[in-house]
Amino acid sequence: MKRIVVAGGGTAGWMAAAAIARTMGRTVAVTLVESDAIGTIGVGESTIPPLVTYNRLLGINEAEFMRATQATFKLGILFDNWKVDGDRYFHSFGFTGKDHWSAGFQHFWLAGRSKGHQQPYDDYCLELVAALEGKFAQLPDNRVNYAYQLDSGLYARFLRGMGEKDGVTRIEGKIARVELDGESGDIAALGLDGGRRIEGDLFLDCTGFRALLIEGALHAGYDDWTHWLPCDSAIALQTPNVRPPVPYTRAMAHDAGWQWRIPLQHRTGNGIVYCSRYLDHDAALERLLGNLEGEPLTPPNKIRFQTGARRKQWHRNCVAIGLSGGFMEPLESTSIHLIQRAVLRVIRMMPAQGRVSERDIAEFNEQQFQDMEQIRDFLILHYKVTDRRDSSFWRQCAAMEVPDSLTQKIELFRETGRVFRRNEELFAENSWVQVMMGQGIEPQSWHPIAEKLTDAELDKTLTHIREDVRRTVNGLPAHADYVARYCGAA
Ligand code: FAD
Repeated sequence: MKRIVVAGGGTAGWMAAAAIARTMGRTVAVTLVESDAIGTIGVGESTIPPLVTYNRLLGINEAEFMRATQATFKLGILFDNWKVDGDRYFHSFGFTGKDHWSAGFQHFWLAGRSKGHQQPYDDYCLELVAALEGKFAQLPDNRVNYAYQLDSGLYARFLRGMGEKDGVTRIEGKIARVELDGESGDIAALGLDGGRRIEGDLFLDCTGFRALLIEGALHAGYDDWTHWLPCDSAIALQTPNVRPPVPYTRAMAHDAGWQWRIPLQHRTGNGIVYCSRYLDHDAALERLLGNLEGEPLTPPNKIRFQTGARRKQWHRNCVAIGLSGGFMEPLESTSIHLIQRAVLRVIRMMPAQGRVSERDIAEFNEQQFQDMEQIRDFLILHYKVTDRRDSSFWRQCAAMEVPDSLTQKIELFRETGRVFRRNEELFAENSWVQVMMGQGIEPQSWHPIAEKLTDAELDKTLTHIREDVRRTVNGLPAHADYVARYCGAA
């Protein structure tokens, strides 16, 4: 398996090419084909913490990366209007309180509340309190768990510089044909406009929604998830920063979807996500323009999508990475993460002795699909569990049937306060608890171990955690100052 051809040079293409070249070195030859005329999707700004690890694996200097991508730090997402119009909650990357191996902190907090403790659950999470006060610092022992808000186009450019230094060959051109081998049915080569031909052993389809290889040539099929995730359109544009950037993304629900606001160092990314059945383009644009801070810097970028997943993520000698593999909408900033997972998996399952193993393909597809289904369930939760009934969109969401796996999670939490992280699931207990409580689920009971503490002991524990969070946050600098210092210092 010597020749790896990456089709497409968006965030997916360059994340794949740079990582493979850096990891595999001279054992492979990586060629990337991209078309300047077609360009990239031009959105994708909010990420989740594993990207920090990805960059570390590639030996990337964090300050350099942040300067190059105009990145800010991200501690979570503020959700407005999801439970009911006017309500808000925060999904943070942090860990709330202190737990016991047998029971998460929510059990102790629920027990405390039944005994008259009034303080909100949020007050026990360092990342959450810091975010809402616009503060940030990296603390010893990775005590603050964070991600980035970045310009993914600049990230791709940054990785291109790295990849080319590590030996990736970049070819600019439009892929006009995908040639299949007459005998095996595998992809043999990409044919470019102008007649050039690029042969390869393993092809990574990073052509975005076009999915030229995995679908156009190999017809892998697509599972449509719009009955669970009904938004199918977005409009994105950028505005100047009118205030110092905060370390969190905003997701503001409206009556047919939601709107994002993502502050980078030099500008803010904005977009409206909506279901075209209930809101047309003009009305969506008007709504977006009516809820901006500052005048648009860019023309509106309209994007249509279909939520779902490619049925085979790896098929024959082709792996779909990025939007070609599926899209679940950007609500919890999971797309770039799925690219990262796919790239690391391809490297782990790099075919040996020049042939692709059917076992690797099966393993890859199962693992990648499991990631996608777990994320899908987490996203559906935001739409399904709501008290909103003020529009046809929200009534449809509240009435929809959801996957059994999600029903089990929701009902278990409602009855017992318990959440279990299964099979290295991306979103851990803290995420599920914050979102389930934020969306309005009240657990009816809690683990009996929380009653083991006397009232005085419980009081002391809760007070201690809260005061520790308070003290730590008081000592943190403003996020914008920290970013400026950090990026300037490297
Ligand atoms: P693209 O960026 O579309 O790149 C495709 C590449 O293929 C381009 O280089 C193009 O030139 C090339 N190409 C296509 N056809 C040809 C051809 N015929 N010949 C040659 N080259 C070709 N993700 C997040 O993690 N966080 C977010 O906040 C987030 N927000 C999003 C909001 C919206 C509305 C959408 C739609 C997506 C969002 N995403 C987000 C997803 C994120 O944008 C993508 O996962 C990421 O940009 C990767 O895209 P890609 O590289 O797969 O595709």
